[in-house]
This record gives sequence, structure tokens and C-alpha cells, in this order.
Amino acid sequence: MTNYFVYFCGRNRQRQQKDFKMGYKRQDNYDAQTTAAIASHVEEILRLLGEDPQREGLVKTPERVAKSLQFLTKGYDEDGIAIVQSAMFDEKYQQMVLVKDIELYSTCEHHMLPFLGKCHVAYIPNGKITGLSKIARVVETFARRLQVQERLTVEIRDCLQEALNPLGVAVVIEATHSCMVLRGVEKSNSVTTTSAFSGVFLKDARTRNEFLNLIR
Ligand SMILES: [Zn+2]
Repeated sequence: MTNYFVYFCGRNRQRQQKDFKMGYKRQDNYDAQTTAAIASHVEEILRLLGEDPQREGLVKTPERVAKSLQFLTKGYDEDGIAIVQSAMFDEKYQQMVLVKDIELYSTCEHHMLPFLGKCHVAYIPNGKITGLSKIARVVETFARRLQVQERLTVEIRDCLQEALNPLGVAVVIEATHSCMVLRGVEKSNSVTTTSAFSGVFLKDARTRNEFLNLIR
């Protein structure tokens, strides 16, 4: 998470450092028109649910939900390939680069409820490497959209494959879906695992197994 420091500068630094300690990067630049439009719908939803949107605890809820939804989908405005290529270096190293246990927060597109877990990403360079923090940022970029875990896994793989042209990419995501925990089947302990491989991870069982053993 220390990579967030890189993006902080200027007069907001102190507040942002405080936000960093809280474990997230605060983003206040919401489009006022979009926020107001979403908020008016949220207010209507509250009414349809039998609530009184004017009662004290709910007065600011539509605006908060509108901002929260925009934060959770901010990845649409980001370009994963550009993020990787913003820190790309020539390197002869041709062993596995593995970033394990990247925290993952995403939103399921079927219920608009969160799914949370961990992402493990590995690649084998082919002349180019990227900053390790960029890999975590790529995960964040695709996770902050309405997603299904399967597509998220593949999008992370394809982004790294295209941006770095490595000998192979491996991505595994282990996540718990609130839509399963809170509603429907109510299976609170189930973890869904998805994987996506390319290049040598696909062709060579030994390389793939090395990766799978390392993330165990
Ligand atoms: Zn769902």
C-alpha cells in the first residue's frame, strides 16, 4: 500500500497521509452533476423501500451513496496499460516476478454488492519489467468497476500480457462474495477461486505448479 505515497503532493499532503494511514486514498473530485443525478435516484429508492429520506440519519445518505458508487467504479476512467507503461524498465531478469496477497475490493455486477479477497499476480519478463506497485494498481483499476470475478481475472492477465509482452502471466483471485454471504444461499465461508494463465504458465506445467505452490 505504500505506493500511494507517490501520488501525493502539494498542500493536501497532510490530509492524504492521514487517509493513507486509514488504508485508503481519499478522492474528493466527484462530478457535481453526476453526484446530484445519482443522489436523486437513491432518494427515490429509499422512498420505495418505505423509508423517510428526510429523517435525520438519511438526509445525506443519497449524496454519500452517489459518491461511494462513483468511487467503487472509478476504474472506468483509468487505463491499465498506460499505468504499467508509465514505469517500464529494460531488464534481463527472466525468472518469475510474483506479487502475492494483493488486497482486492470489487463490486459484483449482478447485485452491486462487494466481493473481497486477494489477488496473486506473476509474470516472467521478456526484456521488460514494471514497477511492482504498478501491478497492484492494475488490479485496482479493473477491480473498481462492476465486475464478475472471472472477467476481472482475465482482464488483469490480458492487460499485463499486452503492456509488457512477457513470457507469461499468471493471475489467481480468491474472493468472498457478499451476495452469497448476505442473501440467497447464505454461505458465509465459501471462497471462490479463479485463475487465468498465458504463455509459459499455460504451456509448462512445472512453471505453473511453481507459481501455485508459491501462493499457497
Ligand atoms: Zn452477486
